[in-house]
Amino acid sequence: MTIEESKGAIDKGDITPSDLTNDLLQRISGVEEKLRAFVTVNSEEALIQVKMAEERLKKGGKQALQGIPIAVKDNICTEGFRTTCSSKILENFVPPYESTVTRKLKESGYILIGKTNLDEFAMGSSTENSAFGHTRNPWDISRVPGGSSGGSAAAVAADMCIAALGSDTGGSIRQPAAFCGVVGLKPTYGRVSRYGLVAFASSLDQIGPITKTVKDSAILLNIISGHDPYDSTSANLPVPDYTSVLGESIKGIKIGIPKEFFAKGLDSEVEDSVKKAVKELESLGALPVEISLPHTEYAVAVYYILATSEASSNLARYDGVKYGLRVEGKDLLDMYMKTREAGLGAEVKRRIILGTYALSSGYYDAFYKKAQQVRTLIKQDFDKAFEKVDAIVTPTTPTPAFKAGEKTNDPLQMYLADIFTISVNLAGVPGISIPCGFTSNNLPVGLQIIGKQFDEEMILKISYAYEQSTNWHKKKPPL
Ligand code: GLN
Repeated sequence: MTIEESKGAIDKGDITPSDLTNDLLQRISGVEEKLRAFVTVNSEEALIQVKMAEERLKKGGKQALQGIPIAVKDNICTEGFRTTCSSKILENFVPPYESTVTRKLKESGYILIGKTNLDEFAMGSSTENSAFGHTRNPWDISRVPGGSSGGSAAAVAADMCIAALGSDTGGSIRQPAAFCGVVGLKPTYGRVSRYGLVAFASSLDQIGPITKTVKDSAILLNIISGHDPYDSTSANLPVPDYTSVLGESIKGIKIGIPKEFFAKGLDSEVEDSVKKAVKELESLGALPVEISLPHTEYAVAVYYILATSEASSNLARYDGVKYGLRVEGKDLLDMYMKTREAGLGAEVKRRIILGTYALSSGYYDAFYKKAQQVRTLIKQDFDKAFEKVDAIVTPTTPTPAFKAGEKTNDPLQMYLADIFTISVNLAGVPGISIPCGFTSNNLPVGLQIIGKQFDEEMILKISYAYEQSTNWHKKKPPL
């Protein structure tokens, strides 16, 4: 069931929140061993939350998510409930406060069904960098679900929750959504508060919904968006009702097709599905226009300088003193080193080293400053494109889900999995991935639609029109 369907069924009294939660917990215990989508399943407390939701319903409560079970990526702080970032260094960390997004979900009456698996500190594209086991793709368990929000995407695709939250720094919502055949939306930078999201690269991180349908994406975005005094980078702008634009015609809407995204390295079946999707949009009245985003080729390089620089600074807080793991040593330095040696995985260490290097004196101007300058050029590419078009349509990923283990020994290959999503974070604009087909071996393909800053309405409207005229989102993995 979707949020929309389960809300309808609960309101009519066809099902109760207890039925729904118990069914999902049963489903989780049936498939979790295969998929490992969760770090922690909230089996006990969820049932208490359900009782409270049912009490409120009895009193005529009308909250948007009254009794609807939603999974949350395990890098989003939930008060009193373990939040690990899939890292040993936070294995036993229980946040003393609630993130703004989960506070808003709580106020809407949601049930926290569990915390989902991710690449450690959201660094990765396959959920293989988790310290607590690899998540598998429900469409083919020999393959990865994408990452870093692989647990959330797999859980939604495999019907282990009604919907989920993920976070996206360079593609971590959209890329796993594409690999798992679900809808993933990265909002405009500043649309959603980052308070309580464990920081990876603060100038890029955004929280967003991973859902079964576009409507559900709009419903969750309505709830989590808005200004937050606890996050000074959250924008003080009104939040429109994102569901109100769904169903509007897309006639005459100009969609840009960037030629740089249909180049060497793009899988032919992915290309085929995306081109057919563009034709479908055209038959719905949209007007495709060829555009150019000339600095696309630098996006991955720029990202891996800026994201690692920010990460090296953000992760300095895990030092064995303030919170998290501590391994005693013979003196302070020894304690720091032993703690970080034991607590952090290889990819996280690699990034701290890369970022520290890029920020060090002598290299700062050559790497960090240069990367910031090129980031501006990438942003200007989008500004120029959006003078001509209303949205941009691309593949979400260059290939469908790859095999587990295929790229773990080659970080550069892994980094290229986000080649089509990363520039969207660098530019700070919103992007969504929706299902647009399947390969010959039954793997989902994602279509990415990118919008102007704070124009989530446009990409949701286009996505909804496409979804209503196709059936890809209705297909279920053969688990
Ligand atoms: N795969 C990219 C990385 O490893 C993006 C991760 C993300 O969006 N959190 O940095």
